Amino acid sequence: MISVEEALEKILSYVDVLGHEKKPVLNCLGQVLAEDVYSTIDIPPLDNSAMDGYAVRAEDTRGASRSSPRELMVVGEIAAGSIPREEVKSGTAIRIMTGAPLPKGADAVVQFEDTDEANRKLSQGSLSQIGIFCQVENGFNVRYKGEDIAARELVLKKGKTLRPSEIGVLASVGRATAAVIRRPIVAVLATGDELIGADQPLAPGKIHDSNSYTIAAEILRYGGIPRILGIGRDLIPALTEKINEGLNADMLITSGGVSLGDYDVVKDVLKERGEIALWTICMKPGKPSAFGIIKNGEKKVAHLGLPGNPVSSMITFEQFARPAILKMLGKKTLVKPSIQAIIEGNVKNTDGRRMFARVMVTKRGGQYRARLTGPQGSGILTSMTKANGLAVIPENTKGVMRGDIVKVQMLDWSEDELLEE
Ligand code: AMP
Ligand code: MG
Repeated sequence: MISVEEALEKILSYVDVLGHEKKPVLNCLGQVLAEDVYSTIDIPPLDNSAMDGYAVRAEDTRGASRSSPRELMVVGEIAAGSIPREEVKSGTAIRIMTGAPLPKGADAVVQFEDTDEANRKLSQGSLSQIGIFCQVENGFNVRYKGEDIAARELVLKKGKTLRPSEIGVLASVGRATAAVIRRPIVAVLATGDELIGADQPLAPGKIHDSNSYTIAAEILRYGGIPRILGIGRDLIPALTEKINEGLNADMLITSGGVSLGDYDVVKDVLKERGEIALWTICMKPGKPSAFGIIKNGEKKVAHLGLPGNPVSSMITFEQFARPAILKMLGKKTLVKPSIQAIIEGNVKNTDGRRMFARVMVTKRGGQYRARLTGPQGSGILTSMTKANGLAVIPENTKGVMRGDIVKVQMLDWSEDELLEE
């Protein structure tokens, strides 16, 4: 048996970062930038107002207060998107909206709330004059040219994962497309004579194929493009044909057929077709897994053979397929985020493998607590639907006792559960 770390290291040594593609920025969400992005413009492009108010010369507001306002003559108005024509000279002000360029002569903005504009409007007085209620400093409520991004500045570095904020920055510097590392195409093949498609009626002795769906959904979730090949039968010729269909992908993931049973023929096809590393991994669930390279002419395709049991295939996906996909995507952090939590039940480790127990993590009294989700059989897929984490019970222990601190790999971070009660 090899350790989870050894298995992962081996798999990662066979997959590489993919090439890049250029596409509209909105389609790049979650992908890794493949170029350094420089701005050609200043943002903001001009000094402008941070408030709706009056553009003034700060020195004209000296000593102003609510009881003793400074009266200024209003010589114009500027909306966002237009260029001011008038100048603010001593003793004058210009009415200005948020984002409008600061007029010449002005060096500060007094917001409406700090003027007598509302009173004047109420008494239907003239707005040709305005009373300023407070003294402001030079630069008050002014946003300066280039204060966010300066022209020629490096705004986004190659290697950065694009989130909504980065996509917004690309748009703000006028970039409609970007070069990103392309998403891996991952072929998915379920194997087993007992399997029937989810859209077909069941027959005696058969079960619906759920692995194709969970695996494809996981691929999508972590940024890959799944290509579902369907169901491969437990016969070498039929299976070989199906596997061939997946060889144009960047990676092939099969489920089932890698145990020691008579009909577990995935391993036999692998032995014939490629460099195979058939393993037993020191983990529970997920012990029988396979990894290899299938030759397709000159091309070599990484093949990950997950166990057939629905929970085992999900957990091995999380440990091995996810990091492989993230590596191909050019991501740097490949390990699953984890936390420390107090376990609320006893877990026995009887055969010295690393256990991944399904838990629901909640936060109470500032502490994460992990509750087991009930029966942990590797065929019980609903145990995954009730879980938001996998408690990792080390292989060199006899288990953990209620109240012990355990490491939990988070599957997701649902706010509902992690909100303090
Ligand atoms: P295997 O690894 O092929 O021996 O399969 C182990 C168990 O997982 C068996 O009970 C299978 O029926 C079940 N299984 C295998 N493939 C799937 C699948 N695609 N969907 C649901 N269950 C499966
Ligand atoms: Mg099978």
